[in-house]
Amino acid sequence: MELLVRFRSPALAALGTGAVVQCAQELGLVHRLDELVLQRLGDVQQAWHALGPLRQRIRYITVNISAGSVETIERQDALIRQVRDQRVDRDLFRFELSETAAMEQLPGVDDMRSVSQRLMEELNVRLLVDDFGSGLSNYRRLCEAWYDAIKLDLQLVRGIAASFRMQTFVGSLIEAVHGFGKTVVAEGVEQQRDLELLLRLGVDALQGYLIAKPLPWPELAPFLRDSPWLKPDCLSAMSSRIQQADARVQAPLLAKPIPTAALAPMPLERYVLNHWASMRDFEEVMLCCLRELQSLNLDVLRLSFAFLPDQEEVDCHQFIWHVTRPGEVQSIRMQRDFLQTAQHLSSVLHHIATRAPIVRLPLGDGETAGFAYLEDLRQQGGTDYLGLRLSSRGVSTPVVSICLRGTQRFSEAQVERIEMLSNLLSLLFHAFECERASRLALLDSLTELPNRRSFDSRIRAEVVAVVTAGKPLALALIDLDRFKQINDTLGHAHGDACLSQVAALLAAHLPRNTGFVARLGGEEFGLILPDHDAGRALAVGEELRQLVEGAGIHHPSAEAGHRLTISVGIAILRPESGSACAVDLLLQLADDCLYAAKRSGRNRVVGRTLDGAAGTSAVDHASRGAG
Ligand code: GH3
Ligand code: MG
Ligand code: MG
Repeated sequence: MELLVRFRSPALAALGTGAVVQCAQELGLVHRLDELVLQRLGDVQQAWHALGPLRQRIRYITVNISAGSVETIERQDALIRQVRDQRVDRDLFRFELSETAAMEQLPGVDDMRSVSQRLMEELNVRLLVDDFGSGLSNYRRLCEAWYDAIKLDLQLVRGIAASFRMQTFVGSLIEAVHGFGKTVVAEGVEQQRDLELLLRLGVDALQGYLIAKPLPWPELAPFLRDSPWLKPDCLSAMSSRIQQADARVQAPLLAKPIPTAALAPMPLERYVLNHWASMRDFEEVMLCCLRELQSLNLDVLRLSFAFLPDQEEVDCHQFIWHVTRPGEVQSIRMQRDFLQTAQHLSSVLHHIATRAPIVRLPLGDGETAGFAYLEDLRQQGGTDYLGLRLSSRGVSTPVVSICLRGTQRFSEAQVERIEMLSNLLSLLFHAFECERASRLALLDSLTELPNRRSFDSRIRAEVVAVVTAGKPLALALIDLDRFKQINDTLGHAHGDACLSQVAALLAAHLPRNTGFVARLGGEEFGLILPDHDAGRALAVGEELRQLVEGAGIHHPSAEAGHRLTISVGIAILRPESGSACAVDLLLQLADDCLYAAKRSGRNRVVGRTLDGAAGTSAVDHASRGAG
C-alpha cells in the first residue's frame, strides 16, 4: 500500500499540483519548491516519531527531488547541506530522482561521477531512479549501479502483457538490475494482466492505481482530519477539486484479487529463451504451454497441436494433452495417407486447416456443428472450444485446439494471448523437427546405429586425441560372414532382421562410456576403442566374435555350422606413431586384417599395430577364433 501526499500551499489551492509545478518551471523555481519540502523533513520525522506504535505501519517515505535541484554543483551543494542540517533518518527517507538527472555526469567534474553517486556517497541515503526508461541515461551508468532501485516508467509498464518485445526487454532489464543486487519497482500499473505479467517477470514492488487507488473523498477526509500536518480549513478548500478528480478516476480501478498460487513462474517466451539449450522435446514445450494457459485461469480439458504437412518430406504430427493424463503429452506421428481418409476430411481439424481459420463453439449449448470430435468433447464435460489455424512458413499447417470445461468461456484477450503462444509453439515445433532431421542424418535408419558420416568424424577426433592424451587407440572392422547366402536363401527382409540383431548385440556389449560402434554400410560395422592397446582390443574383438556366434542366429550354410558368425580386423595406433595420415592408414590396416581373417577361414579376429612414424609397416598379433 502506498500513500502519495502532495504538499500544496493553500494560497495556490486554486491550481492543481501540475499547474503549480508548471508555473514554477516557467519561472525556473522548481528547486525552490524542493527546498520548501526539504525544510519540512525534520518536522515530518518528528511527527512520525509522535505516531507511537502506529509508525511501524510506515516503512519509508520517499521524497521526489526535481532535476532543477541538482542542475549545478552549487545547487547540489545546497541540497546536500539542507538534508544534512535536517539530520534525517536514512532508513525513513528515500530520495527519488528522475533518470536523466540521476545518471547525468556531474557538471565540471573530470571523472565519471554521476549525480546519484554523489548524493549516495555524501548523504548516505537510499536513491531511487524515477521514470526509468523515459530519460537519457546510458547503459554504462546502469552498470555502475549508483542507486538502490530502478522505478520503471509507466511507458515500459502499460500494455506489457500484450507486447512480447517489451516483455523481453523489461525481463532482461530486471535480471540485470537484480544481478547488481538492486531492486525494480514498476510504476503506473493499471491493468490486472500487466500486473500479473510484471510479477512473473520478477519486479520487486508495484505502484499504480490498480494496487493503491486514490481514496475517495469520503474516506480521505476523516483519514486526514487527524493528521498533524494538515489544517481542517485547508482540507475543505481542496474538497471539491478532489471530489471532481475522484469522479474521473474511479471507474477503471476495480481490481480482481490476484490468484498468486496459479501464477506460472515466468511467461512461456522467457522460459523458452532461458531454457532453450536444455529443452528435451516438444512434449515439454506443450506442458509449459499448458501451465501458461492455466495461469490465465483456464480450466483446460484438452489441448492439441496438429501439424499437417504441405510438403512431401514433412511428417504429419499431433500432440495431445488430456485432463485425464496430467503431466503427460501423447504424441502421434500420423500416416500421410490419413489426410485422405473420410475420417480426416470430415473432421474439425481439416475444417480449420482448410476453411475456417478460427472456430469458436460454446459446446455447453449443444453446438457441435456436426463434428464428431466436438460431440465427444461435449460428452466429456467440454464447455467452450477454440480451434485456430496458425501461420507458418509453408512446410506444414499448424492447428491448435483447446477445449475448456466447467463454466468458463474464452475472453478476447485470452484468445489473443493463445494465438501469440501458439505461433511460438509452431516455430518451436519446426526447430525441434530440424534438430531431429539433423540427428537422423547421422544415424543409420535400419539399425539406428550411428552411420558412416558419424563414424568418419568420430575416428578423426579420436586419432587427434591419441597424441594429446598419450593413449593408444584401436579401430575394428566387423563383417558378417557369408551374409549373401542369408539374403539369397531366406530373403532380404530376413537379412535385414539379422543385421539389426547383430547391431543390437554389438551396441549392448561395447566397452562402457568409451566404445563407439557404427554401421559403415552393407553388412559391415566399425568399432572405435579409445585407450585400448593390442591386448585389450583383441580381447574385445574375441568377446564380440563369441557373442555373435553364441547368439545362434540361423545361417543356411552347413559350412558355417548353421550359425551366423563375424570376422574382425583390428588396427591399433600408439601415441608414439603420431597422427599424420593415421586415419587412412588405420582404416587400410584394419581392412587388411579383416581380409586376412576372411582368407584364413572366417569367424576369427586378426589385429595389427601400426608401426613407426610413417606407419607403413605393421606388427602382427596372433589371430584368434575358431578355424
Ligand atoms: P563374406 O563372408 O566374404 O563377407 O561373404 P558375404 O556374402 O558376407 O560378402 P559379400 O560382400 O559377397 O556380400 C555381402 C552381402 O550383404 C551382399 C548384400 O546382398 C548384403 N547386404 C548389404 N547390405 C544389406 C542390407 O542392408 N540388407 C540386407 N538384407 N542385405 C544387405
Ligand atoms: Mg560379409
Ligand atoms: Mg562385406
